[in-house]
Amino acid sequence: MEYSDPLWANCPAGTFSDMVQTLRIARRQRWIAQIARPTAGLLLLVLLWVAFMIYNPVNDITCADVVDRFAEFRDKQLDSDLSDRLSFHLDKCPDCRRQYAMLVPVGSHHP
Ligand SMILES: [Zn+2]
Repeated sequence: MEYSDPLWANCPAGTFSDMVQTLRIARRQRWIAQIARPTAGLLLLVLLWVAFMIYNPVNDITCADVVDRFAEFRDKQLDSDLSDRLSFHLDKCPDCRRQYAMLVPVGSHHP
């Protein structure tokens, strides 16, 4: 079969491979924009979150530790380092603050 229609003339040499190359680059860029970049961003966020959870000073002592020491804390029987950490935790942790408030009613003065 003969293609005499000019629309079906042979492409100049290299046109197809150039086109394929362009499509490949476009596909790679799309992949980077749609998958690689969001994934990397998410991964970074997760890493930051993990690092934050590990180094988070509130987690320096656990809530259970804090609750265990409420009585000593109230009676100022803790050494100053532990007492500082506990009050820092209380400052940042609403759960423990609520429990502490139940143990030490607001308005009661400390000895
Ligand atoms: Zn807590």
